[in-house]
Amino acid sequence: MSYNVNEKGYYGEFGGAYIPEMLYPNVEELRQNYLKIMAEPSFQEEFNALLKDYVGRPSPLYLAKRLSEKYNTKIYLKREDLNHTGAHKINNTIGQILMAKRLGKNRIIAETGAGQHGVATATVCALMGIECIVYMGEIDIARQAPNVARMKMLGAKVVPALSGSRTLKDATNEAIRDWINNPVDTHYIIGSVVGPHPYPDMVAKFQAVVSEEIKSQLLEKEGTENPDYLIACVGGGSNAAGTYYHYLDNEDVNIIAVEAAGKGVDSGESAATSVLGKEGIIHGSKTLLMQTKDGQITEPYSISAGLDYPGVGPMHANLYKTGRAEFIAITDDEAMTSGLELCQLEGIIPAIETSHALAVFEHKKFKPDDIVVVNLSGRGDKDLQNYIDYFKL
Ligand SMILES: *Cc1c(COP(=O)(O)O)cnc(C)c1O
Repeated sequence: MSYNVNEKGYYGEFGGAYIPEMLYPNVEELRQNYLKIMAEPSFQEEFNALLKDYVGRPSPLYLAKRLSEKYNTKIYLKREDLNHTGAHKINNTIGQILMAKRLGKNRIIAETGAGQHGVATATVCALMGIECIVYMGEIDIARQAPNVARMKMLGAKVVPALSGSRTLKDATNEAIRDWINNPVDTHYIIGSVVGPHPYPDMVAKFQAVVSEEIKSQLLEKEGTENPDYLIACVGGGSNAAGTYYHYLDNEDVNIIAVEAAGKGVDSGESAATSVLGKEGIIHGSKTLLMQTKDGQITEPYSISAGLDYPGVGPMHANLYKTGRAEFIAITDDEAMTSGLELCQLEGIIPAIETSHALAVFEHKKFKPDDIVVVNLSGRGDKDLQNYIDYFKL
C-alpha cells in the first residue's frame, strides 16, 4: 500500500479534480506536462541552483539540546525558518514560477489569506520579471497590512475580494474567475497541497526537498536516515507534506500531524479539520472539510492565520483516515506557551503555526533515545504583534 498519489490523482478516496468545465483546459494542460517538465535536467538544475543560492538551502538540521533536555528525548529542528522570506513557502513558489515559464506563461495570479503565500509569490515574480496579481479578501488586507506592503514593494498588484466574507475563500473564487478568463497566458500559483489534481502532488514534490535533506542530514549525524518521529503543523498541509514525503511508505517512521484546535476542538472556534471534518469538496478536491449538516463550509478559527483553513490537503485526509499519521489538536494557549518556550530555551522565535507543532511535547511522551524531527516551518517576525498582544509584552 502506498500513501502517495495514484495516477488518477487520488490518495485513497481523497483528491481528484472536481472543477468547473471552463477550468478544465488550464488544469489539464498542467496535468499533462508537470511531471515531464519536472523531470527535465535543465529544470532540475535551475530549481536546485535557486534553492541553494537564492533560498539558502540546505536548511540546517539542528539538535536542540536544551529543548531535548527538558523533554528527555532527542529533538532535531529542521530550520525552514532560515529560508529567504522566512518560511517553507518559497520552495513551492520557486518551483511553480519555473513551471510557469516552461509552460510559456507570462502572468501569475495567486490568492492569499494571511499574506505569506502572496509574499512568496510576489518574490519569485520579481525574481523572474513576471507580472503578478494577488487576490486577497478585503478584511484580510486590513488585518495584514505589513504583508500587503511587502507585496506592493515587490511589484505585485493586490486586488481586494469584496464578496462574501471577504476572506481567503472569496479571494480564491476571484483567482479562479481570473484564470477562467485568462487560460492562455496565466499560471495560477496555489500555495499549499490543496486544489485539484495535479496541484497537491506538484506542491508536495516541490516541498519534498525538506525530507530529502532530513534523510542525508540524519544519516550524517545519527548514522541512520530514519527518525522515530516526524512532527509538522498542518494548515493546508504543504510543510507537513514536504517533511513526510520520502518517509510516507516507510512505516518504521512515525508521523505526527498537528492541527489548530483554536479555543478548543468543541468550542465552535477551531480549525481541527481532521477531527471535525466530513468528506466534502473544496477548491476542486475531495477531502475532509469543516461543514454544517447541509454542507455549508464553516468558518475556521485559529490564532494562527496560516492554520485557519476549513479543509486539509487530500494526502493528509488519507493519512488520517488510514491511521498512518497520528493527528493531535493544539489550542491557541498551548501553542503560544510552547512558542515562548522555544524562544527562551533555544533563542529561536518561531511562527505561531510552528508553535503548534512544538506543543506536541506537552501532549505526548517520547523515549530518551527516540529521534524526533520537528519541522520549524517559519520564523516569528510576522507574528510579533500577536505575541505582544498575547503576552502583554
Ligand atoms: C503558511 C504556513 C503554514 C501552513 O501552511 P501549510 O501548507 O500547512 O504548510 C505553516 N507554517 C508557516 C510558517 C506558514 O507560513
